[in-house]
Amino acid sequence: MMRLAAKPAQMLGRVACVNSSRQFPGSPWSPTDAQAQERATFLLRTRSSSPNIRRLLSLAPGKAPSDDATRSQAGADARPSLRSAPPWRWILRVTAVALLFPVLLQWVIAYLVGSDARILPPQLLAAKNLLIVTAHPDDECLFFSPSILGVLDRNRDVKGGLLVMSTGNNYGLGEARVQELYGSCEALGIHHDRCVALNHPELQDNPKVWWNTDLIETVVREHVSKWKIDAIVTFDEGGVSGHLNHRAVSAAVSNYAATNPEAPVAFTLTTTSLPRKYTLLGDLPLTALPFAWRIISALSFPATTADSKDERRALVANTWNRYLKTRHAFAQHPSQYTWDRHLYMVVSRYVWFNDLKRVERVAPSQARP
Ligand SMILES: [Zn+2]
Repeated sequence: MMRLAAKPAQMLGRVACVNSSRQFPGSPWSPTDAQAQERATFLLRTRSSSPNIRRLLSLAPGKAPSDDATRSQAGADARPSLRSAPPWRWILRVTAVALLFPVLLQWVIAYLVGSDARILPPQLLAAKNLLIVTAHPDDECLFFSPSILGVLDRNRDVKGGLLVMSTGNNYGLGEARVQELYGSCEALGIHHDRCVALNHPELQDNPKVWWNTDLIETVVREHVSKWKIDAIVTFDEGGVSGHLNHRAVSAAVSNYAATNPEAPVAFTLTTTSLPRKYTLLGDLPLTALPFAWRIISALSFPATTADSKDERRALVANTWNRYLKTRHAFAQHPSQYTWDRHLYMVVSRYVWFNDLKRVERVAPSQARP
């Protein structure tokens, strides 16, 4: 053992002597063999890439290494690797976490806590007759599918209804789009009888026209009564895309739900800024931030009831199966399936998850005249 340990050191010692004399020609300082060997042993211990060589050299002749020596050697082994970790490795690690965390979050919300009353409020969980109010055929797939499927798929007793305020006839495709809408309703689990697209002269598809909100309110009220609706989902004031028809629908339904004591509870779909809209799941951590404590609570102890403050907002995420259903539903709209919509059906957050906000009741004095 002693001979094995000494051999590499002696060899390096000779090399070190030769190097020293080359570096300092004519120098009065001339290292002895013992000094050179000591220096070479130190170099081998600290720089050798082989742990076996380093361990071999740490053995003094006839003496086992102490625990302290072993620990200090282990530290010496670890320190150079930490220092020498190239920056791209850290960039890769951070990127991997940034990509995987939203996927994990989507999975947790869709599969683990999606039925918890603190994530999906009891008014939606317990709804028997859900109504989605939109402006054009295909809005239900482009924006609302996580909400529709999130409620309907959880409870087979729930009846879904879709009320579309126009036929989407802006380019003369109104009749075809109505037929496409029926296929989409079927794919989303909405019965044909409750799949309606109006063709009213005052409610024609036009992004430059603000629709008559009183007329929309009247139509909504009639269908709420006819279908015994107990929960509504519609656009918020931004209309997701800013389309005037979407925003008019939001204004009408929100006013109806806020001011009519007999109106069912209504939730509006949150509009986000453009960069957040097309980030696939990238926007989910930010969207889920106000729900963070509720998600942790739901994971720890599931609940079927929620505090009133937790009932004001909902977060609903598509499972993989529901996402495929969404794509299948949109495929029923061939007149709208342009190349950019292929991209949309992947990168838009609205085909993956929805966050909803409840319309609060207001005092009659605050109601719109
Ligand atoms: Zn639309």
